[in-house]
Amino acid sequence: MNKQLLLNWLKETNPQRLKKLWQSADETRKKNVGDEVHLRGLLEISNYCVRECTYCGINSAQTKIERYRMAETEIIECVQKAVNFGYGTVVIQGGEDYGLTTECIANIVQKIKHKTSLAVTLSLGERPFKDLRIWRKAGADRYLLRFETSDYKLYKVIHPQSTKTNRDRFVILKELEQLSYEVGSGIMIGIPGQSYASLANDIYLFGEMDLDMVGVGPYIPHPNTPLGSRQITFDINSQDQVPNTEEMTYKVVALTRLVCPQANIPSTTALASLNKINGRELGLTRGANVVMPNITSPIYRTKYEIYPNKACLNETAEQCQNCIHARISMLGRTIGNGHGNRKR
Ligand code: SAH
Repeated sequence: MNKQLLLNWLKETNPQRLKKLWQSADETRKKNVGDEVHLRGLLEISNYCVRECTYCGINSAQTKIERYRMAETEIIECVQKAVNFGYGTVVIQGGEDYGLTTECIANIVQKIKHKTSLAVTLSLGERPFKDLRIWRKAGADRYLLRFETSDYKLYKVIHPQSTKTNRDRFVILKELEQLSYEVGSGIMIGIPGQSYASLANDIYLFGEMDLDMVGVGPYIPHPNTPLGSRQITFDINSQDQVPNTEEMTYKVVALTRLVCPQANIPSTTALASLNKINGRELGLTRGANVVMPNITSPIYRTKYEIYPNKACLNETAEQCQNCIHARISMLGRTIGNGHGNRKR
C-alpha cells in the first residue's frame, strides 16, 4: 500500500467503505496469524524515569506521583501469575530507570528463563547498546520501543533533549534487530501536532521496517504534563490535525494489519480506555491478535499512570485474566498457546 492510499483511508468517513476496511483487516489477520489471541502478561516494574516526554504522566519532571521500583522477589512473584494463568509471554515494562541496573535486569531475565518456559519481552526505554546486548544474552526474546512519530520536528518537541543519554529510536530498533530480538515498535494516534500525512508515513514505515510487533493506541492527554495541559501549542491547520479518537485508532490498527500481515498487533489498553465496553473486542476484529493483560499488583498499577482513566486500573491480575478470557471466547476466538512468536 502506498502512502497516498494510506492517507485516503485515514481520511475516509463513509461508513460502508470503512466497513470494507474492517473486513479486509480481519480477513488478513485470520489468513496470516489465525484465530488465536496471544496473551502477554504486562508487568510495570518501575515508574522512575530519566526522560521528560511531554505527553507521559510518569516523566521525570512529574512531582505529583509517588515513585516505586519493584524488588526482584516481587517481580518473580508476579511472573509466576503469568505462568499460572497460562500466558506464553511476560512483558517487563518501566520508565527509563537506570536504578534498574544492567545486572539487575539481566538477573531477572535469567531467573525467569531458568524457572519458567515464558518468552520475555523488555520495554525499558532507550538503553545503551551494551545493556541490550547483555539482556539478549541473558535470554530476553523481544524488545518494545515505539518510535511514537516519524515526524522528526514533532518528535523533538515531544521528547526534549533532557539528558546526554537520549538516543535515536530508529538506530536502537536496528540494533535490536542485529541482536536478533523480535522487534516491536509503534506510535500514538492523535498527538497534538500530528498530521495525517505524517501518520500515513508512520504506517508505511511499519511495513518497510518489517516489524515483528506493532503497538498503536490513542494519545490520551494527561493534565499534569506539558502536552496535556496545553503548555505546548502547535501551529497546525485543524484539517491536518489527526484526532485522537476511537475510530481513528481502528483505522490505524486495520491499516497496520494490511501493511504488516504477519505481525503481532495488540488491541491496546489505551484503546480499551476510550471504549471500556467493547474497545478491546473491536480492536481484535479489526486487525489485532494480541492482548496484554496487566499482572501488576493494584498497589503499583495505580502509580504507573502514563495517562489518566486507564482501563482496568483497580483490577487484580486475576480479574483481568477472567475478563479477557470471557471477552475473547465471546468473539469465537481461541487463546494462543506457547510463545506466540512472529509468524513467517
Ligand atoms: N519507558 C518505555 C515505556 C513507556 S510506556 C519507553 O519509553 O519505551 C509505553 C508507551 O505508552 C509509550 O511508548 C507511549 O507510546 C505510550 N504513552 C505514554 N504516554 C501516553 C499518553 N499520554 N497517551 C497514550 N499513550 C501514552
